[in-house]
Amino acid sequence: MGRVLVIGAGGVGTVVVHKMASLPEVFPEIMLASRTKSKCDAIAEKIGGDRIRTAQIDADKVPELRELIRAFKPEIVVNVALPYQDLHIMDACLAEKVAYLDTANYEPLEEAKFEYGWQWAYHERYRDAGITAILGCGFDPGVTSIFTAYAAKHHFDEIHYLDIVDCNAGDHGKPFATNFNPEINIREVTQKGKYWEDGRWIYTKPHEIHKPLTYPGIGPKESYVIYHEELESLVKNFPTLKRARFWMTFGQEYLTHLRVIQNIGMAGIEPVMFDGREIIPIQFLKAVLPDPGELGENYTGETSIGCRIRGFKDGKEKTYYIYNNCSHVAAYKETGAQAVSYTTGVPAAIGTMMYLKGLWKKPGVFNVEEFDPDPFMEQLNLLGLPWVELHDVDLEV
Ligand code: NDP
Repeated sequence: MGRVLVIGAGGVGTVVVHKMASLPEVFPEIMLASRTKSKCDAIAEKIGGDRIRTAQIDADKVPELRELIRAFKPEIVVNVALPYQDLHIMDACLAEKVAYLDTANYEPLEEAKFEYGWQWAYHERYRDAGITAILGCGFDPGVTSIFTAYAAKHHFDEIHYLDIVDCNAGDHGKPFATNFNPEINIREVTQKGKYWEDGRWIYTKPHEIHKPLTYPGIGPKESYVIYHEELESLVKNFPTLKRARFWMTFGQEYLTHLRVIQNIGMAGIEPVMFDGREIIPIQFLKAVLPDPGELGENYTGETSIGCRIRGFKDGKEKTYYIYNNCSHVAAYKETGAQAVSYTTGVPAAIGTMMYLKGLWKKPGVFNVEEFDPDPFMEQLNLLGLPWVELHDVDLEV
């Protein structure tokens, strides 16, 4: 089908290219480019069969990106580097008239803040250039938004209450580690809580609202309301929502480490002087924490992520729970990466497939829930992330 340029050779990038390489009829030519070329080469070697070409790229440099795009001529660029690179890669795609897909919304380096506004501002320019940008195509955001779109399309006349529930019941055997890029992860989970209710955002202290929720095959786990980026696009695209929240499980040990990290200033993003040079505390912290890409080998247990929805169908109230459970061991066996990278990378590969097949192709900048969920849902079942639906159950929320 088409040539694909994947940018970012971390845990997620590893899974994306593994999955793409296993589908030669859809992805005949794949290039993996990242800041450190040796990481791309190691991934390509592991996959073997000369399936992956590699390149060095600094994705913060638009001229470099444009040159690489001109040389390789991809149909779509898949951005699984960091959120800081989103706008630079979108700029390069726009200039070279190539489609764009990512898994996380833009975040400025100097401010711990993420929102879609910066990327939505490209909509008219992408539309006028006739190219597609697909935003947030990981698991959450990504599959959770597609689950919501699928529920709205097939099971509800109106959805009123949405609770996205994200449980990682895995054990990596380390006292403290983050499951994806530590800098992005710690910035996300230490911010204030925020959810949508009756047409406005409600703010809470970090981790203020919590309760045990029961996850299928796992059992009850303490779950905390945090702000997560898909809420912003979902309340816009599903205006019947009266309330939308995002819950994530954290262990006590994890929360204690986070509190210490914050209290001693190691989550800081302002530069401090150390030994005659400026360092950013959270970037230094990343350098000493376990690399999330290396956690897979001894990771046991599974993740369970889904949507709990209440609304109306044919004049009657209805509840619905749709979820996927993903085993860390199975993910590692297939790709050499743990389930958090797997559940992000597989949807990114499927979203790219949707574009190449012409199923998700329209000019402009769109969140995943703005496309037809059906062909994507079908591929989830085929490509390692099967989903389960429960009707008229106690949602606990
Ligand atoms: P990693 O830190 O493991 O990987 C990021 C990769 O991007 C690294 O290889 C890094 O290079 C590369 N990179 C960073 N800066 C640049 C740059 N300027 N130019 C080129 N390459 C660069 O992160 P993950 O794989 O865990 O996460 C990847 C993305 O996926 C993140 O944006 C994250 O937020 C998102 N994500 C989304 C989820 C979802 O469900 N939607 C869930 C989990 C993650 P180097 O190796 O040199 O450091």
